[in-house]
Amino acid sequence: MAINPESLGAKAVLLDIEGTTTPVAFVFDVLFPYARNHLKDYLAQNFKTPDMQSMLQTLRKEHETDVVKWAEPPHWDNTSESAEMRTVTLYLLWLMDKDRKSPALKRLQGKIWEGGYRSKALQGEVYPDVPPALKRWTERGLQVYIYSSGSVLAQKLLFGNLKDGDLIRYFRGFFDTRMGPKNAPESYRKIAKETRHAPKEILFISDQEKELKAARQSGLHTLLCIRQTQPFENPDTEQTSTTIKTFDEID
Ligand SMILES: [Mg+2]
Repeated sequence: MAINPESLGAKAVLLDIEGTTTPVAFVFDVLFPYARNHLKDYLAQNFKTPDMQSMLQTLRKEHETDVVKWAEPPHWDNTSESAEMRTVTLYLLWLMDKDRKSPALKRLQGKIWEGGYRSKALQGEVYPDVPPALKRWTERGLQVYIYSSGSVLAQKLLFGNLKDGDLIRYFRGFFDTRMGPKNAPESYRKIAKETRHAPKEILFISDQEKELKAARQSGLHTLLCIRQTQPFENPDTEQTSTTIKTFDEID
């Protein structure tokens, strides 16, 4: 029997992206390699823009922190502009390799993807059950929001540039890690406040049990979305959430 959000008391649905609305492979096999492959050209073309200079300041601070923490990042060489550009490229690649949630890196990736979506080299991807669910929910007056660790810019680019159309109109709002980390209960209280809903009026759907646990601690309703059999299962992962395989299981 289908799960009805309203019967749980929900007035809003909060969605994760990676692994929930969108295949994880899209992020890892399409978006990340695109940013990596276009990094050098992007830096060469934009190195002197005010936006890039402010991004570099953030990046330098992150680099200093890495040095202090003995993380051994590539040496920062600013003896010439070309040397610094090379350094920045190396350091950004280093951050990508470590899959760091670096604010400077996220910002830069967003900018590179923006160019890719504009030129149609990139197109967003969602599971086929996502658009009809968004339509169904919003037609009944449910408000739909996104909460992802990808930047709000990256989220809007993805949903605004799909192969067959644009889903932006269905969303009331977009949240990223500026609300806090996804495993922290506090982040979900902040989001509830932003949406002007009581936590118990929000249904959060994600593929990560840790995120759901944090959301539940703040009083949200949760559903675990398992799109396919996981490549490896962690026996330590406690799965206490109701599980769905597609949004078709939600009324
Ligand atoms: Mg996810």
